[in-house]
Amino acid sequence: MTDYYKQSLEHLRIVLLENQYDFWANWLSEDIENWEKTKSTEHHLRAYGGMGSFNDVVIGNQDSAGLWQGQVFGMLQSLAYGLASGEVLEDILARNNTTSTQISGWRCQDCGAARINSIDIERFLCVSVLPQIFANYLKNNRLIELLNTNKLISSEDISNRKTAIERLFGQSNIEITSENNWLWTCPKCGSEKVCSYRWEILNNETKIIESDDNLEIKGQK
Ligand SMILES: [Zn+2]
Repeated sequence: MTDYYKQSLEHLRIVLLENQYDFWANWLSEDIENWEKTKSTEHHLRAYGGMGSFNDVVIGNQDSAGLWQGQVFGMLQSLAYGLASGEVLEDILARNNTTSTQISGWRCQDCGAARINSIDIERFLCVSVLPQIFANYLKNNRLIELLNTNKLISSEDISNRKTAIERLFGQSNIEITSENNWLWTCPKCGSEKVCSYRWEILNNETKIIESDDNLEIKGQK
């Protein structure tokens, strides 16, 4: 049987070393050693909680690759922590699976123009898709492959889903932009009544609807 706990520690250690977190990489080395010698997880559990703890380690930049990298790291952490605390594997994986369907963009309250930043599509994809991928890879002993972020992002599954979402937005006249900043005025009519707006992506990226907690748009019921 695969030693998932040891595997999670080893993978975390690789990511930490790649990101120059030597202190935590060494901490994990000790965890691996403890596990091999005495099956003790006490030292690893001590890494969590409090200021400057292992939970505060930030992996990945604010770009799309960084998003995925950070998310994979977080899932490995939760796997290691869960197993160290004696949680059942299925419960840990279920906890990761938040199945978020909501995606956030902008809308002009006056003319209805809508747009979304491409990084928010990426964020949505990352949160909604990665838990399943993580569970599949883990069970097929391929977890290590998730550490290759570029390969992960360019995988057929993820790029197909991304295309599907982009198509949905296109069909709904929602402009996709790569500008990653706050929208102050409407690019179409110049109105300042621009608000944050949310949509739900449903049925495996085949359907998009407006969330019901949005502000009202003029001329729209
Ligand atoms: Zn407008």
